[in-house]
Amino acid sequence: MSYVKEVYQSIAAKNSHEPEFLQAVEEVLATIEPAVEKDPIYRQNAILERITEPDRMIMFRVPWVDDKGNIQVNRGYRVQFNNAIGPYKGGIRLHPSVNLSIIKFLGFEQIFKNALTGLPIGGGKGGSDFDPKGKSDREVMAFCQSFMTELYRHIGADVDVPAGDIGTGAREIGYMYGQYKRITSLYEGVLTGKGLTYGGSLARKEATGFGLVYMTEEMLKSKGNTIAGKTVVVSGSGNVATYACEKAQQLGAKVVAMSDSNGWVFDKDGIDIAAIKQIKEVERKRISEYVNYRPQAEYHTDGRIWDVPCDVALPCATQNELHLSDAETLIKNGVMAVCEGANMPSTPDAIHKLQSSGIFFVPGKAANAGGVAVSALEMSQNSMRLSWTFDEVDQRLKGIMAGIFGQLKGVCDEFGFGDNYVAGANIAGFKKVATSMIAHGAV
Ligand code: NDP
Repeated sequence: MSYVKEVYQSIAAKNSHEPEFLQAVEEVLATIEPAVEKDPIYRQNAILERITEPDRMIMFRVPWVDDKGNIQVNRGYRVQFNNAIGPYKGGIRLHPSVNLSIIKFLGFEQIFKNALTGLPIGGGKGGSDFDPKGKSDREVMAFCQSFMTELYRHIGADVDVPAGDIGTGAREIGYMYGQYKRITSLYEGVLTGKGLTYGGSLARKEATGFGLVYMTEEMLKSKGNTIAGKTVVVSGSGNVATYACEKAQQLGAKVVAMSDSNGWVFDKDGIDIAAIKQIKEVERKRISEYVNYRPQAEYHTDGRIWDVPCDVALPCATQNELHLSDAETLIKNGVMAVCEGANMPSTPDAIHKLQSSGIFFVPGKAANAGGVAVSALEMSQNSMRLSWTFDEVDQRLKGIMAGIFGQLKGVCDEFGFGDNYVAGANIAGFKKVATSMIAHGAV
């Protein structure tokens, strides 16, 4: 049995109750197999056994008092997965579905994504099963302060630097930063995605969505094509989806559908991004409100957003939101490219179907790396006590996304993988981290 298969079997036995984590590990291990089997150094250094086991997993009680005076208790997580190339870096997810398997899958993916950015950041992830939806500002603050009251002892500007993710935006980062500062007396870049008045970076809010579209454009350009004039479907209507939609439209595409967890809207004339921002960022309401701004648009709670014909699909909501049947529908309707804004939004059989049908597919760990890349630029600005202009950050982001695509292509060419950018991303990220782990010895 190959080294890769041997290790996967042992991980599957040890973590059998963690389906999302196993899904992520299986995908990475299966695609890096040619590189790992080619060089005995990885086996000699037990790299696969080490890279799939987090450095540490922290789980804690998060008690807080709701507006009725009742004590609520959530569970908090921080998985510090791998710091071979820099301090742990990865977001905090606040969503009722959060469990250890999901945080481990996200932390594992983050190792390779962060390596691809070319910046010195390791992999980590955190979160809680707290649901900010429908909570008052005071309740969100109470939760965030309690969460940080435990987390602060495990993080630091050179140790572990959390950021936003699903359910964690500028408001939540602000409350967490305030509590960290109060407890430690340190004014340091311990969180990214901060507000612009206290150390945040211009273009961080836009970075993941913009980066996704830069990557899509870079990939299409390599095929002599462009996103201009294309019809695009974007799932989700949160941070990533909103700015992916905005940038796609700026580059001349027409985005015709967006969603939230209750339903999706179709606007044949192109999504009104100002309306989406008003509904989601200002009023924190449901996407069903969109038809009040655009009466010609349709709101659906049945069917799938992927039923809408498009040239380019950008899944930007959550994991496993694009299934095999969705991939089949997209292909039937003539899709040309699927680029992932969310983390692991496509199921393995959907990815296989897309790739084997000749659809260009860029996985999340490469396509959504713009967010963490600009977070690392926020860390640099904080360390230098400087702020760069929007354009300066945006230009660096563009360069980083082009650099990532170059790495993917380089690996595909080296191993004869054609357009298998999943394998390209995994091998490029893996090699960098593994080389560093080997240099550090058996630690
Ligand atoms: P947000 O919370 O801002 O938005 C998430 C969006 O997805 C919302 O529209 C939400 O709808 C929808 N959604 C969330 N969970 C589900 C679900 N279970 N089913 C259906 N829809 C769902 O999060 P982000 O935009 O920050 O994150 C989106 C994805 O991108 C995640 O996978 C995240 O890990 C990934 N990502 C984010 C980065 C960032 O910088 N923010 C960086 C890299 C990756 P509703 O409001 O109804 O819940």
